[in-house]
Amino acid sequence: MNGNSHLRRRTLLAAAAGVVAAPFAAGPAFAAAPKVYIDPGHGGTDPGAVANGLQEKTLTLNIALQTRDILKASYSVDVRMSRTTDITRSLAYRTDDANAWGAAIFVSIHINAGGGTGFESYRYPGTTGTTQRLHSLIHSNVLSNMRSVASVTDRGQKTSNLHVLRESNMPAVLTENLFIDTVANANLLKRADFITATARGHARGIAAFLGL
Ligand SMILES: [Zn+2]
Repeated sequence: MNGNSHLRRRTLLAAAAGVVAAPFAAGPAFAAAPKVYIDPGHGGTDPGAVANGLQEKTLTLNIALQTRDILKASYSVDVRMSRTTDITRSLAYRTDDANAWGAAIFVSIHINAGGGTGFESYRYPGTTGTTQRLHSLIHSNVLSNMRSVASVTDRGQKTSNLHVLRESNMPAVLTENLFIDTVANANLLKRADFITATARGHARGIAAFLGL
């Protein structure tokens, strides 16, 4: 079902209920777009992991910006980011900002390090239900879109007591998109098509969760 027919139906229902439709915008007046918070890991004075000529902060920003652009081009969503340029943000800033904005979901994007290979993702320990559903949809969509470009190991859906997962007031997921210090993974992270596929996976997982 596309957005236009939903919009049209809401407008008709509102008209039937005697609500005067605002002349400037039928849609947002009746149903606000879901608020998606995207958090590109690190930035500014904190490069994150660095190896093979790559910096984590640059990769996370590229993936996050493309995720935002795909979401906004394809769906009716409101997207806010913890940063859109190479600036320093504390962990507290990131969750305070998302909480104050009233985000519906929080998605943090990172690159792994430590000598492994593949993709893994995290939610807060003990979370089930809605958070687990968001986690599962993002994980499966990112993995399948990565695998449209190259073979990628599935390291699984995990839990961890991370600040952004613990201090965010909404369902939150953190992705670790391959290992910057593993040459084969780094070679994928240097490819524009792989970065775009990774972003598309995030966008599709978010859209699936929100029912867009
Ligand atoms: Zn990181």
